Amino acid sequence: MSAKNKKKYDQLKQIRNELLQLSQSPLFEYRQKNNYKPVIGQGNHDADIMFVGEAPGKNEAETGVPFCGAAGRVLSELLESINLKREEVYITNILKDRPPNNRDPSPQEIELYSPFLIRQVEIIQPKVIATLGRFSMEFIMKEYGLESEVTKISLIHGKTFQAQAQFGQLQIVPLFHPAVALYNASQRKTLEEDFQVLSAIITLI
Ligand code: URA
Repeated sequence: MSAKNKKKYDQLKQIRNELLQLSQSPLFEYRQKNNYKPVIGQGNHDADIMFVGEAPGKNEAETGVPFCGAAGRVLSELLESINLKREEVYITNILKDRPPNNRDPSPQEIELYSPFLIRQVEIIQPKVIATLGRFSMEFIMKEYGLESEVTKISLIHGKTFQAQAQFGQLQIVPLFHPAVALYNASQRKTLEEDFQVLSAIITLI
């Protein structure tokens, strides 16, 4: 492992250690009671593309692996459709612990967990962040100065927004959450088309 990669590995490990001990989280007790794991992220620490979902579900909390359930299968298929492997990208969520019954993340939970996500972005330094679902869309767009562009996801999915991160230029692409494709064929088609947009962006970076 290169010195640069060792540093990234250590920084991400530090995030894991902090999350393991995050007893001030309203989701900590639920995690402990169910023997769940925090779900930090998975993939290439040098990835050009980072995918940011919402929060771990049951499968993810049981394994510690993001997007490993039904929605994760859709995500893997969408990645395959543009010849990307999961190992080539980095996949994570805003929340690192499962909310009970997969309810929406609360504003307090987003506030508590999002600094870990921002640290992950700064460590990995992706060129593109693809947000999955409206919670990560709203958070990431606001965080990177695109607050005035935030609107309904149905109006801006598949569009590319230019942003400036401390480490350099960043493109943000809001996408629907892959779970929408599970029960809706037309939404799946939309996601497939939006992944083609993503593919076109990647060939240019
Ligand atoms: N949904 C998400 O938003 N994230 C996961 O990791 C799994 C399902």
